[in-house]
Amino acid sequence: MAETLSTSRGHAIRRWLARTASTLRRIRFWVHISVQKSLSYPFVTILCPRYHRDRLGSYKGIDISSASFNRSNDAEFLERTVQALQMVERLDVRRFRRIQREVRFIVNCELSDAGASYRRTGHVCQVDFRRYDFGRDAEWYLRSYASALVHEATHGAIYSRYVAYTPKSRCAIERLCHTEEHRFVMRLDTPERRWSEQIIRPFDERRWHASWYAGFFRRGIRIGERIVEVKRRA
Ligand SMILES: [Zn+2]
Repeated sequence: MAETLSTSRGHAIRRWLARTASTLRRIRFWVHISVQKSLSYPFVTILCPRYHRDRLGSYKGIDISSASFNRSNDAEFLERTVQALQMVERLDVRRFRRIQREVRFIVNCELSDAGASYRRTGHVCQVDFRRYDFGRDAEWYLRSYASALVHEATHGAIYSRYVAYTPKSRCAIERLCHTEEHRFVMRLDTPERRWSEQIIRPFDERRWHASWYAGFFRRGIRIGERIVEVKRRA
């Protein structure tokens, strides 16, 4: 009897500790998100209406827009984005639903170091579309692009579970997004071609170091350089 009582007391304490940890995690998350939101206020008020205005099209509730400094590839961006979304939907409906849930806009714009990135404010998946060289190998880059959309939507799903992207959590978060990307790409494999081995490299956090440690000004300079580079191609 005494043993039963102490076991149930143990369960109650563990439940209380789990609830407290969950509440603390949510408080930490809301503090982090509030700071991030206030810093991103200009982004929301200026850029989100612009994404609406410059909407090229949409696919099943996901708006596709352009904020690039070189709009010469708008039509290709729209076409390839729809194809990539259809590919995810056809092969992996669960991860496609995640994209629908977590991504409001897919926007072509210049990025400092990455091919794609997720912004919680506005639920925006930013894509530096010119980094995907469809002219060189359309099949490979379409699959790579689709897997990037899965990766970025996973960032959204992690935010939805109240886990903020901080210096402490970011490595584990990127690893999880990379794993989800890998699970999707494995569905592309055929007996003739092992796409999963060609598109996804093993996880290596050093790939993210440039964006983690660049600093605000360095990143600004990189984006400026990227814009100049992209404008030259007009
Ligand atoms: Zn990521």
